[in-house]
Amino acid sequence: MTKLTVTFLGTSSAAPTRGRGLPGVAIQREGSVILLDCGEGIQRQFLSQRIGLNKETSILITHLHGDHVTGLLGLLQTMSMAQRTKPLEIVGPSNLLKWLEVTEKLLHIGLSFPVRFSPARQGTVLRTGDFKVRATKASHSVEAYSYVVEERSRPGVFFPNKARALHVPEGRQWSRLQKGHRIQVDGRTVLPSEVTGPPRPGRRIGYSGDSRPSPKLSRFFSGCDLLIFDSTFHGKDHDKAVERKHSTCLEAAETAKKAGVRRLVLTHFSARYTNVASLVRQARSVFPDTIAARDGLRVDVDYPDS
Ligand SMILES: [Zn+2]
Ligand SMILES: [Zn+2]
Repeated sequence: MTKLTVTFLGTSSAAPTRGRGLPGVAIQREGSVILLDCGEGIQRQFLSQRIGLNKETSILITHLHGDHVTGLLGLLQTMSMAQRTKPLEIVGPSNLLKWLEVTEKLLHIGLSFPVRFSPARQGTVLRTGDFKVRATKASHSVEAYSYVVEERSRPGVFFPNKARALHVPEGRQWSRLQKGHRIQVDGRTVLPSEVTGPPRPGRRIGYSGDSRPSPKLSRFFSGCDLLIFDSTFHGKDHDKAVERKHSTCLEAAETAKKAGVRRLVLTHFSARYTNVASLVRQARSVFPDTIAARDGLRVDVDYPDS
């Protein structure tokens, strides 16, 4: 099974603490990386977590609050110093491109690689060799987006009996059919669909960014294997969450439950909580399969049927 790993690079909100850096989550699958948000200090985490600066990389920015975006320029510069030549995909609110262009010019940054920018909007915003990314509007104090990163679908289950009945010789031909290629047997074409079940969906990771919960978000994250959700506040500080357009750990858990996800990771904790154990306990009372993110935490995402 191809490994799909989520690494938490920064898990604080607004300002870093001694133990937590500003937001950033890396999704890795084989040679490719998707980075969700890029707070200050993420480039250093790229090194310590061995993410790699020359991989096929896409960066998804949720919104233009400093804590989610100020690390981007430094990361781009360091990629340039590492002689990166592969294009870099960036998706985010349209003003992000203006900020990048102005600072690139003012700071005389000449990048060694092309940046391909796509403005975030409702719907599919990116397709890579490994993933499809969908976005929807989040509910925050500025224009903000939530993302679902979906691995491309896998071929269906292979039925050896059907292949034998069609006289397909075992070995290379079987493996080609399993990978979705049509083959020739005694001058006749055999289609993958004749010997396999329907394609199986890939693994899905949802990321709220900063947001209030909403029925729309619960629908958007429906069926995710892993949901990473804004958990800035404890349930007892609900008023502050409403006022600052964030979520509580309880609201994150309720969203996970409504969306029917498999696992929830709480992140983006306010610096007021030195210990987030009580937030996890409260969330687990609603959605048991909950953990708290911490900087450096790695989570492997499995297929539901594995
Ligand atoms: Zn934030
Ligand atoms: Zn924000």
